[in-house]
Amino acid sequence: ATIPAFLKEVCRRHGDRAACVFSEQGERWTYDQLARRIDRLAAGLLAIGVYKGDRVGIWSPNRPEWVLTQFATARIGAVLVNINPSYKKDELAHALRAVGVRTLITATGHRDADYLGMIRALAPELARAPVGRLSAAALPALRRVVHLGEDDKPGMLRFADVMDRGRSGYRARLDAITRSLSAHDAINIQFTSGTTGRPKGATLSHYNVVNNAISAARAMRLSPGDGLCIPVPLYHCFGMVLGVLAATAYGAKMVFPAEGFDALATLKALQDEGCTAVHGVPTMFSGMLDHPDFARFDLRRMRTGIMAGAPCPAPLMRRVMREMHCKEITIAYGMTETSPISFQTAPDDPPERRVNTVGRVQPHVEVRVVNKDDEVVPVGQEGEVQTRGYLVMKGYWGDPERTAEVIQDGWMHTGDLGVIDAEGYARITGRAGDMLIRGGENIYPAEVEAVLLTHPDIAQAQIFGMPDERLGEEVAAWIIPRAGARIDADGLRKWCEERMARFKVPRHIRFDTEMPLTATGKPQKFRMREMMQADQT
Ligand code: ATP
Ligand code: MG
Repeated sequence: ATIPAFLKEVCRRHGDRAACVFSEQGERWTYDQLARRIDRLAAGLLAIGVYKGDRVGIWSPNRPEWVLTQFATARIGAVLVNINPSYKKDELAHALRAVGVRTLITATGHRDADYLGMIRALAPELARAPVGRLSAAALPALRRVVHLGEDDKPGMLRFADVMDRGRSGYRARLDAITRSLSAHDAINIQFTSGTTGRPKGATLSHYNVVNNAISAARAMRLSPGDGLCIPVPLYHCFGMVLGVLAATAYGAKMVFPAEGFDALATLKALQDEGCTAVHGVPTMFSGMLDHPDFARFDLRRMRTGIMAGAPCPAPLMRRVMREMHCKEITIAYGMTETSPISFQTAPDDPPERRVNTVGRVQPHVEVRVVNKDDEVVPVGQEGEVQTRGYLVMKGYWGDPERTAEVIQDGWMHTGDLGVIDAEGYARITGRAGDMLIRGGENIYPAEVEAVLLTHPDIAQAQIFGMPDERLGEEVAAWIIPRAGARIDADGLRKWCEERMARFKVPRHIRFDTEMPLTATGKPQKFRMREMMQADQT
């Protein structure tokens, strides 16, 4: 189904149930109220000249307008372009140009970033151009900017005014457009997280994301009584598909604790809204569990959620089950290019498999594990994981070559290494590109990281390769010690030597209180490498 058809059906069944709670803005809507606001925004977008197929960028942290824009663009067949809230001016320019964004919906700023200032710097023509007819040298496709602020800004439209314009008329046109949509139309360009380099724009259809959301929601056994907390960013699949669309599929309530991730605000929302489910990347869960006020919150209604996006350590999973009461928490594995989930654990999987694997392949998805020559390896052997089926993206926007490199014969080459056992449970063992080769020996960072995490003084650990003249690559570790821990490089190396082959022991070690992360909270090894190299020269 298309997203508008899907939402219509959800409203028919669950219209008067709670749909969204935005704790920071104090907004609360039922599904019917959500749908009415979506229609007004969709009609408003038509009124300002947004057409089917147009790229509409959204640059905002988790705010109510984000969710409205997500559905309203789909309602008129426009293509939503998710822009990372932490982008700086040049990254914004790159994203807007890469996909030809015509309409940009933007927050005025986020944290200490001045979004409107950056946009004006990129398009100084804005102040003088008639609204809707911008022509900026640096952003040739951009026609209009809609901001989420209260006051009028020269050359820009106010989001609230666009909503107002949608109050009258347009209804018939709106319905006609919705009827003309195909489930296979592109409706979304999502940039990948940028864990390994510059983000790529994956193009997704209604069909891709609606089906994936339903699949994920089923694995969590969501129902209208559930409250799903969404501290993960909306600009990523995790928030907009596994959060918003999955909750919508079963008429559950979605709760947005704060504009950006905030452990305390999330804990508070879990308790105060009686949430039963929560999503997060591993660092978000450890951030909540290790928060000094954690014990103050009553989380006994918690039941499920998804941990995903990066390797999910078994000890962390056990803590989430026990201390956060998420007995049915699931691990999922996926990527932006596969809408996003392909594997997910289920509450009735054997306990051991629920913490040590990413579960089994989701229904209607094919999977294979191959060697470097694309030959399927025997069960239980490691190789690159490839997936095929409804979930595979249409392609990287405007980049057929790169698309052809990763999708062949329908198979998505994930670039992730994994092993699938005889019962079908998969373990992700690392990224093919992260594996380092030290003097001819293959070293898998995830394996060394798992050992380091058993050290009582280590809170977080990342292993990556550093160029080395003699050995090609040498093992480097970026360590965040636990508060109050006393640990030094020599002591840590000795500790490692007792627990792993000598060649795996980190030579370069940096202790720090933080590490470079993507906006979704994923460790960026390529930046750790750059920073460590800069330190050494
Ligand atoms: P980029 O492609 O820009 O470098 P990225 O791959 O991190 O960034 P995403 O699409 O957000 O961008 O993330 C998908 C990747 O996250 C997967 O390819 C995989 O490496 C990792 N991942 C996701 N879930 C899991 C999981 N449960 N266990 C281990 N790794 C995971
Ligand atoms: Mg990727």
